[in-house]
Amino acid sequence: LPRSVSGIQATSDSLHLGNYIGALQQFVEHQEHHDAFYFIANMHAITVEQDPAELRERTLRTAAQFIAAGIDPERSTIFVQSHVDAHPKLSWILECTTGLGEAQRMTQFKDKSAKKENVSLGLLTYPALMAADILLYQADVVPVGEDQRQHLELTRNLAERFNHRYGATFTVPEAGILKETAKIYDLQDPTSKMSKSAANPAGLINILDEPKALTKKFKSAVTDNDTVIAFDPEAKPGVSNLLTIYSALTGDSVDSIVAEYEGKMYGHLKVGLAEIAVEKLAPVRERTLELLDDRAELERILLAGADKAQAIADETVRVAYERVGFLHR
Ligand code: ATP
Ligand code: MG
Repeated sequence: LPRSVSGIQATSDSLHLGNYIGALQQFVEHQEHHDAFYFIANMHAITVEQDPAELRERTLRTAAQFIAAGIDPERSTIFVQSHVDAHPKLSWILECTTGLGEAQRMTQFKDKSAKKENVSLGLLTYPALMAADILLYQADVVPVGEDQRQHLELTRNLAERFNHRYGATFTVPEAGILKETAKIYDLQDPTSKMSKSAANPAGLINILDEPKALTKKFKSAVTDNDTVIAFDPEAKPGVSNLLTIYSALTGDSVDSIVAEYEGKMYGHLKVGLAEIAVEKLAPVRERTLELLDDRAELERILLAGADKAQAIADETVRVAYERVGFLHR
């Protein structure tokens, strides 16, 4: 089976609808026909300041949301990044394979560092750790949102560069980015990516929001002064974002949704979408809360996942160490 590998940062209590549509839905789909590895990226999380108790809690909450969304720990390997030492080991080698200018050109680094007074070195080297996360498992495909395309491209370059310099070591992975749903926008600011670190919480749909809160956020989504429901991301970013979300959650084409709402008002679309989102997300919320009632079981799943991940990752590190000329121990 081809291998699918991806992760989500433990940077919030709840994942949001962008994570759900851009990443989690694909993870669930991939597990049908891939050997899948999904991890909670707690090491990436500390590239910006985190409260330790909160980080620990969010790591478990994120794991619970993975499973609640449909990732089956019997079929897919779910683990915590920091449980597998191979990640920082290979990351170091890849940092030494990456140019400083190359790292500085990453838009995520530019965006995240522009907003900060104290920029950590880890924020700059983030893409090398991400490349390690992927290359350790010889991933064939990496399901992510559009915002990670540039990091994926760098990962591919690093794999090729290393292979060229030291001999074939890493599989060069493909980006698993679904064109239509790869970028979900903030409901209050539909030209900005929906993000955990959103400026306005009203624009952020959390998968653990209560149904009432979800409905309220959809109803107050920013649209435009026009009245026609049409898909036009340039001229009508708000309505187009709602149509994208609607399509991603139902599997219906945008065209068929536009046809269904022909002659209706924005309010109808918002209410219809709110109902669909509640139907989809309320069970995920309930299942997450149930899973969080049995933390020992969650921890057991994560430790079993770490064992499976480690066996593969350690072998890749062994080969990489050999290739770069590190002395046998
Ligand atoms: P942060 O603001 O802390 O970076 P984030 O919301 O970007 O958080 P990540 O953990 O960095 O979340 O990303 C996890 C996955 O979710 C990645 O694959 C990323 O591409 C995807 N993703 C994040 N935001 C969106 C979005 N708005 N639309 C589609 N996919 C998204
Ligand atoms: Mg992010």
